[in-house]
Amino acid sequence: MTLILKNAIFIDWKTLIFKQTNIKIEEGINGSFQFFDDFSKIEISKKDEVLDCEGKLVTKSFAVGHHHAYSALARGMPAPKRNPADFVEILKYIWWNLDKNLDKNTIEASAMATAIACAKAGSTFAIDHHASPNFIEGSLDIIADAFDKVGINHLLSYEISDRDGKQKALRGLEETDRYLSQHQGLVGLHASFTLSNSTLNMAADLMQKYDTGIHIHVAEDKYDQEDSIRITIKELLSA
Ligand SMILES: [Zn+2]
Repeated sequence: MTLILKNAIFIDWKTLIFKQTNIKIEEGINGSFQFFDDFSKIEISKKDEVLDCEGKLVTKSFAVGHHHAYSALARGMPAPKRNPADFVEILKYIWWNLDKNLDKNTIEASAMATAIACAKAGSTFAIDHHASPNFIEGSLDIIADAFDKVGINHLLSYEISDRDGKQKALRGLEETDRYLSQHQGLVGLHASFTLSNSTLNMAADLMQKYDTGIHIHVAEDKYDQEDSIRITIKELLSA
């Protein structure tokens, strides 16, 4: 299919030069694009689609390096039962309350809303960090299906954590193993302060098994460093 973007402002992503132009695009794996400063010079056939891009910016698509699709429907939800005083309370009273309430339908709706929002904002790829402690098995496939439907490429990960107990951590590892055996993705870990050494070791084994990477929050808040120092001191004292 041929697409003609009329009156676009094109941003060259290498030079960051903006220019007003018209762009003729041939879609597909062997696709191409050509610039025409003069619109009347473009040969247009009846089946070509012409889009008026007046006031729109055209550039290479963006990638989202860290997403939590499950939070897409959080806007407008009721206030938490108490006003969080710090980062850990924001997690406890907002996000760890929301994630426990996710089920198949809300994961799917959140993933669809996220994928559509990505596409509308010009992003065609996202790395997602998913948590739904009461609906773990198969959760990553639900997100993958929603992203695929919209056409957003992805690297998904389940946010493994000991914050809801050892069993949930093991099931997070299992979901990761199951998903990575069929898809490209990442080993997701929440943050060092909610992970035990044994969970970390099992996550590292999975990373090696699938020759992939770890996706984790690092020093998102000073609590992370303080907790690491506390544990290190405790280990030194007991050695
Ligand atoms: Zn995150």
